[in-house]
Amino acid sequence: DVSVMVMRNFWSYLTFLMNKEACVKLVLLGDSGVGKSCIVLRFVRGQFDPTSKFMLCTSALGVTVGASFLSQTIALQDSTTVKFEIWDTAGQERYAALAPLYYRGAAVAVIVYDITSPDSFNKAQYWVKELQKHGTPDIVMALVGNKADLQENREVSAQDGIDYAEKNGMFFIETSAKTADNINQLFEPEAGICNRAIVDGNH
Ligand code: GDP
Repeated sequence: DVSVMVMRNFWSYLTFLMNKEACVKLVLLGDSGVGKSCIVLRFVRGQFDPTSKFMLCTSALGVTVGASFLSQTIALQDSTTVKFEIWDTAGQERYAALAPLYYRGAAVAVIVYDITSPDSFNKAQYWVKELQKHGTPDIVMALVGNKADLQENREVSAQDGIDYAEKNGMFFIETSAKTADNINQLFEPEAGICNRAIVDGNH
């Protein structure tokens, strides 16, 4: 499975960063409705519940930016403790002028599109260009095609995603926040949920 192999390297890189820095800033970008909040909720809480997006937003720190903030301290298998911070614009990315405030200092960007929406794939490409121009110089980017459970409505082929990611030196994976497919693999392919202990977090 090519995508999982590629993401294995992504996780190695995240682990490397986390060993180096106390706190790694990871931003999620992408069109409103592609499933960013659902991916985060699926990863952090192990559930798919689109209605709890509101709860995710109530903990917003960056009110003016409209970004919600999740922080999770996670103990890994080798008992290294890492602080995982996930930022999500929760659909407020239309405030384009504020975007640089949001992704400033991000070591990692996860750019999400919806495999049933070519528009969202175009928007993902916009974010890649934006980060290449104005993001942290050596930012690591992953391209994520979400809603992979909606195969019958697919309008962006996996190959298009892979090709674009390869051309831009990005990691690539297709996920489903609904069925949980590849969600753990996105953030940690080695350690399944049972190898991870949440030490502390707010969301
Ligand atoms: P955001 O604006 O990018 O944060 O998108 P949300 O996480 O709020 O998701 C938008 C809608 O897409 C929600 O109503 C979810 O029900 C739906 N959704 C999110 N992820 C998936 C998925 O993997 N599969 C399907 N079928 N629907 C999803």
